[in-house]
Amino acid sequence: MYPAAFDYAKPATVAEAVSLLSANPDAKILNGGHSLLPAMKLRLAQPAMLVDIGGISELKQVSVNGGATIGAAATYDDLLKHDGLKAHTALYEAMSKVGDVQVRNRGTVGGSAAHADPAADIPAALIALGAELVAVGPNGTRTIAADDFFVDILTTALEPDEVLTEIRIPASGASSAYEKFAHPASGYAVCGVAVALERDGEGTVTNARIAVTGSVYKATRCSAAEAAITGTKATAADIEAAAAVAADGLELAGDHYASAEYRGHLTKVLTKRALTRAAG
Ligand SMILES: Cc1cc2nc3c(=O)[nH]c(=O)nc-3n(C[C@H](O)[C@H](O)[C@H](O)COP(=O)(O)OP(=O)(O)OC[C@H]3O[C@@H](n4cnc5c(N)ncnc54)[C@H](O)[C@@H]3O)c2cc1C
Repeated sequence: MYPAAFDYAKPATVAEAVSLLSANPDAKILNGGHSLLPAMKLRLAQPAMLVDIGGISELKQVSVNGGATIGAAATYDDLLKHDGLKAHTALYEAMSKVGDVQVRNRGTVGGSAAHADPAADIPAALIALGAELVAVGPNGTRTIAADDFFVDILTTALEPDEVLTEIRIPASGASSAYEKFAHPASGYAVCGVAVALERDGEGTVTNARIAVTGSVYKATRCSAAEAAITGTKATAADIEAAAAVAADGLELAGDHYASAEYRGHLTKVLTKRALTRAAG
């Protein structure tokens, strides 16, 4: 199916992109296009204008210096070639499990975050790693914690006239991992769990961040599992106990492919696997 007619603009700067969004309330940013264009072809989205940010070079920058700063238009493929990002294992693994080569060649971490698909891999990794997302709008720049960024299905804390410019991963020394059960047709996460553990010199877990995607309507922290593993040595028994409560308190999603009960089960299984690798 063909999309509805739209205007097209390709700004050279973030300021220009913000001006275009402010002047055209029905405009949408075009990033990798791998979520927006399919939605337009199905007429689920009918923006009056596409503001293509592919010409804004600063949005493709990546720097790694303990933490990492990822431009919102850097593709998965760009990022997977960046060895420094391997230290942020949960994100690196989540990116490597997105779709296929073609999707990773065009799709972006920034686009995935801004789209907030409940079955996307990236949001869980960003939450587990304690990422911050930087938005520029007509009133200036603001920084939004990943915990507050994902608001609902396909809904984020971004205003319609804001551009997500970069994603910052803090230098925490956390050991992290991402586990996914992919839908066999779409490749999206039926369930995905990202874990990041910080430990003291004796191996005690001092801070745990565990986030689930796919099983839920928006990427969400597994608070019960975080509480259960914190303060332990993350032994096999500790991990088993934390995984057993991973789905507690979650609003689980179900559909014709996987029931809410099954997704709850997957949440526990993948939490155990991710914790085991992060603690290993
Ligand atoms: C066949 C296929 C398989 C896929 N499999 C997976 C998978 O397994 N796992 C997974 O997580 N994803 C998957 N995806 C989605 C893919 O990761 C997309 O690339 C991603 O969700 C969106 O990124 P994008 O750069 O393509 O954004 P776009 O499609 O260009 O934009 C998506 C939305 O975000 C907005 N937006 C984009 N960038 C910004 C910005 N900088 N500031 C403000 N708003 C912005 C756009 O206006 C639009 O509303 C798949 C896609 C396809 C087509």
